[in-house]
Amino acid sequence: MPQRSRGKIWTLVVLLLLLAVVGPISYLGWRQWVPGVKSLAAPTRFLGQKTTLTLKLEARRGNIARVELRVVQGGTSISVATQEGAFGRRVEIPVTIESAARGLREGAATLEVWARDDFWRPLRIDDRAIASYPVTVDLTPPKIELLAATQYLSPGGSGLVAFRVTGASRSTVTAGKLALPSFAWGPAEQGVRVALIALPWDFTPGAPLTITGEDEAGNTASRGIPASFKPRRFPKDTIEIKDGFLQVKVPELLPQHPADKPLVEGFLVINRELRRQAEEEKRRLAASTADKPLWEGAFVQPRNTKVFANFAETRAYVYGGRQIDTQVHFGFDLASTKQSPVPAANKGTVVFAGPLTIYGNTAIVDHGLGLQTLYAHLSSLGVKVGDAVEKGGELGRTGTTGLAIGDHLHFEVLVNGVSVTPLEWWDAKWIRDHISQPLKAAGLAEVGGATARDDAPARAATAKPARRLGR
Ligand SMILES: [Zn+2]
Repeated sequence: MPQRSRGKIWTLVVLLLLLAVVGPISYLGWRQWVPGVKSLAAPTRFLGQKTTLTLKLEARRGNIARVELRVVQGGTSISVATQEGAFGRRVEIPVTIESAARGLREGAATLEVWARDDFWRPLRIDDRAIASYPVTVDLTPPKIELLAATQYLSPGGSGLVAFRVTGASRSTVTAGKLALPSFAWGPAEQGVRVALIALPWDFTPGAPLTITGEDEAGNTASRGIPASFKPRRFPKDTIEIKDGFLQVKVPELLPQHPADKPLVEGFLVINRELRRQAEEEKRRLAASTADKPLWEGAFVQPRNTKVFANFAETRAYVYGGRQIDTQVHFGFDLASTKQSPVPAANKGTVVFAGPLTIYGNTAIVDHGLGLQTLYAHLSSLGVKVGDAVEKGGELGRTGTTGLAIGDHLHFEVLVNGVSVTPLEWWDAKWIRDHISQPLKAAGLAEVGGATARDDAPARAATAKPARRLGR
């Protein structure tokens, strides 16, 4: 063998030997030095009596195998939660910490996240703190004091509750499943809040009315509102749908309805889907309410109007001798002469002015604290969103737009987007006893001129509908 070839072989052998040694060493070194688990976000700023937080973690290699949370307070480290398992590579792990049970004290602390992956390394690395965050331990729940509330409530009716809440960042009033917003009353530091209560027409008497307060640490407190429920009966009626009505209304309200499909199918879309859309819009508009009462005294019913349909009337729709639908009518139908002026029932701000599905041309006036009035089927609108209106100020003229047969005004009172009977708000005495009185009992200023003005009895009649006017 020539000298040069032998040299080459030796070089190759040395290289191979080097590779055989260096390769595994650098590979092992790489495995050893792959970074561990990373915390992607601060899980919380507060620890309450019981706090559920979400750990957002990522393993650079392998899967997350174990997590532990420790709270360091005054030099002591307390393990508050541990979880083991094959969690995956990038995960969100919910963890519940019971601070009081673990012996945490109120005040500042450090929350340490400890975590380990299952990636094999030559030298095992024990769990280590991968991140630490400053937190405040708060074990004191908010305090709720009931100041006053409307004593008698009925399904489809309204009421008021006044309460004081301390140490809460959020407070809600619930009626059954319905959440009602509350509004600060007077100086913020006093913590006094007022909420209008609305009971839907199908509210189950006896379902709980509750005030709940929650602080930033998630501590909650709740209190029941004592109330007596008076039952209320609602009328039922049958509406016959005629072809002439469908020929006018289906193209008006559902122009996209195919010409080769029966009109009655279009009517059902209008009566169900468009009605539902209008309900959603009412709920949405409830958010644009003033945080103080704008109304003064009793609400007014347009003069010389006759009632043709009542609040929460359940209507069976009949077509060709067959019942095709059932819906609930949420307002009062008031009629006088054609295109008569529509007065604002009370002082407020216009929050909606335009077409609203089955309601046709509609105005919605906000009176504050979630109280609003709705005026539908108008032939013309004389106001726009943002306009301030006085009690009795003209909003537009009555008409037949939307799902209406004859010229009339469809009038609704809404509390947080929930339709309630206008009879209560048309009645000065009812307002005095059920809204002003609890405010007075709570030591709060009364609403506008609620006691002195408009003491005339309600003008609303509850006569049986004389003539069908649609919606
Ligand atoms: Zn109506």
